[in-house]
Amino acid sequence: MSYARNLRCRECGRDYPLAALHVCEYCFGPLEAVYDDEAIRAAVSREAIAARPATLWRYREFLPCEADSAVDIGAGFTPLLHARNLGKALGLPRLYLKNDTANPTWSFKDRVVAVASSRARELGFEKLACASTGNLANSVSAHAAAAGMEAVVVIPHDLEAGKVLGSSIYNPTLVKVRGNYDAVNRLCAELAGSRNWAFVNVNVRPYYAEGSKTLGFEVAEQLGWRAPDHCVAPIASGSLFVKIRKGLDEFARAGLIDAPRTRMSGAQAAGCSPVATAWAEGSMNFRPQRPDTIAKSLAIGNPADGFYSLVQLRDTDGACASVTDEEIVAGMRLLAETEGVFAETAGGVTVAGVKQLAERGRIDPDELVVAFITGAGFKTAEAVAGGLAPALEIDATVDSFEAAYGPPAEEVPA
Ligand SMILES: *Cc1c(COP(=O)(O)O)cnc(C)c1O
Ligand SMILES: [Zn+2]
Repeated sequence: MSYARNLRCRECGRDYPLAALHVCEYCFGPLEAVYDDEAIRAAVSREAIAARPATLWRYREFLPCEADSAVDIGAGFTPLLHARNLGKALGLPRLYLKNDTANPTWSFKDRVVAVASSRARELGFEKLACASTGNLANSVSAHAAAAGMEAVVVIPHDLEAGKVLGSSIYNPTLVKVRGNYDAVNRLCAELAGSRNWAFVNVNVRPYYAEGSKTLGFEVAEQLGWRAPDHCVAPIASGSLFVKIRKGLDEFARAGLIDAPRTRMSGAQAAGCSPVATAWAEGSMNFRPQRPDTIAKSLAIGNPADGFYSLVQLRDTDGACASVTDEEIVAGMRLLAETEGVFAETAGGVTVAGVKQLAERGRIDPDELVVAFITGAGFKTAEAVAGGLAPALEIDATVDSFEAAYGPPAEEVPA
């Protein structure tokens, strides 16, 4: 049984039924799911959660759909790694990585789509759709396939080959728009008005957004039922960034952890940094930008949750980094070479952002820091492919090996 009770406007507080609605009719504020907190508190325990399968459905009481009939391809419960080597390089001995490259379609978007597709099917929709910078299209295509639904995914025309293939393999209707993501998003908002489809990040966005909370739940559980001191996450629309902290707060309200004092810091690519720019200027109003960065998955020039991201930065004593494309590539390589984690460009933004904020003294070396690595590197191979050391190419002989690698330094042990 779901404990969600209704949708509520974040601005004026008006209530709406749990339908395919996303904006308030009165004030145009965004709608958000609200729950019966008392019933959740009575129903959950650390022991019960810990005994459940290793997917995000272990947090079923906190999600706005029925877990038993959910579309489940195994999203969530990804590894939390103590990044000792990277932490040493950055002067942060208590740095952890939340490795969301380990999701079924290799990005954190499986969390939001698991919840949105489940709720969409419950509401009777037969088609799943989305406006995507790539990863969302991959995840919608995969979940639709598993759910027996049709998928229509809409992307900008210039995405990386891996992001396109990562949708096509599941056989959706793939639509490439001659325009950037903000144009794709506007188009989908118009289409949603005239077609009875579930656009996961438009008309069923309140359910989609709830999926990101599970990152907060998992981190708290994996740290031994406590909140981290500081989180650093990439910001595209800002939804993920805002919902991690919401997850920690809900866990505290349910009595599973102590009240969090977690600082929330963000990272953006300099080529698309509306939130970081406003933050640096001390403004709570961001100006939309025209994106130009290799971090295409984060290239949203007019972020839906940009304002709430700025509020969260302010209210949690966070900070926001802006990193160049060169720093993004260096971040991807540093992460791979120190921790064995191959992340896409968004992961490079996070790592470069952690580095910048540590250098600026905005992350304290004593803090337990969690950096969110949200997508896998094979999807954006173009970003690093040119700059890596070439293979030693040899004949299948020891002489040829030694000519390329060098002779053995010591006697072979007896
Ligand atoms: C979508 C995405 C994000 C951030 O998403 P928000 O729109 O800010 O919720 C971060 N990393 C990757 C890899 C993504 O695909
Ligand atoms: Zn309202």
